[in-house]
Amino acid sequence: MRVLAAVLREFNKPFNIEEFDVGEPGPNDVIVRVKAEGICGRDLVIWRGGFKNLKPPLVLGHEIFGEVDGRPVGVFGAITDGTCPYCKAGKENLCLNLQFFGEGRPGGYAEAVIAPKNNVFELPDSDYVKYAAAICPLATAIHASRLGNVGPRTRVLVTGAGGGVGIHTIQYLKYLGAYVISITSPTKADFVARYSDEVITDREFSRKVKDVDVVLEIVGAATINESLRALRREGVLVLIGNTEGEEIKLARPALTVMREHRIVGSAAYTRREVLEAVDLVHKGVIKPVYRVYSFRDVNQAYDDLMNQRVLGRAVLTF
Ligand SMILES: [Zn+2]
Repeated sequence: MRVLAAVLREFNKPFNIEEFDVGEPGPNDVIVRVKAEGICGRDLVIWRGGFKNLKPPLVLGHEIFGEVDGRPVGVFGAITDGTCPYCKAGKENLCLNLQFFGEGRPGGYAEAVIAPKNNVFELPDSDYVKYAAAICPLATAIHASRLGNVGPRTRVLVTGAGGGVGIHTIQYLKYLGAYVISITSPTKADFVARYSDEVITDREFSRKVKDVDVVLEIVGAATINESLRALRREGVLVLIGNTEGEEIKLARPALTVMREHRIVGSAAYTRREVLEAVDLVHKGVIKPVYRVYSFRDVNQAYDDLMNQRVLGRAVLTF
């Protein structure tokens, strides 16, 4: 089956819009007509060549929303085997045979996607763009907040608060009743302030904030040492991402030792968390923040994302 797609032919180079062979659907597959596709931070890492196991040509995209036989659907971003010990324990985000769309199998930067039937779920309405903007970030926030044991009045510090994950994460934290301290760039500060108790734009933010209970670390290498300085004794740093993909160095390991910090990785989300996110967006509890690009303007979207010109998520429409 050939579909119009944005194809990554070479890492770090513009996408090529072309007809691409995405294979044929099997007996347990459906064809999803893509209506909206979110651009994830994970995609940017792949684009840069950060996933050493992947080789071009690639059709990226695991935030797929569209139609099957005219009905609005979403696609769970990863295929899991359902039989490994992690899947059986309801932790399919840790599946031993996990495969994301856009990584080895063609993803949503295309007019159509072949997906296993049981990866497709119904949407409560057809506002595809809002789901493409918010579901992956919000499900990520739900998962990470659980790992950090965030509840009412928990003091949470969030780095990268103005990005796609951040802007939806801080909304979710407010919904949980947490006290939210957002770290962001000066250009995004005003908007981020709507969903924050404090906003800090200083690079050395640990001078202004101390004793937080939990850090949701979205940026990684560039901020993690300041985050650890701001984290209280027995505090938890949940590492969600490392946007630049560079090595992380602990500047003051003794601090983490003496304060008994816990550093916990957070791997994506479960299907249940995706459905929770859909419900929160559908009910309007979380307001998606995004900028829309026509699928053919994917290279412009990447340029804007790399240069911090997008508040929230960039979404491709078809
Ligand atoms: Zn994503």
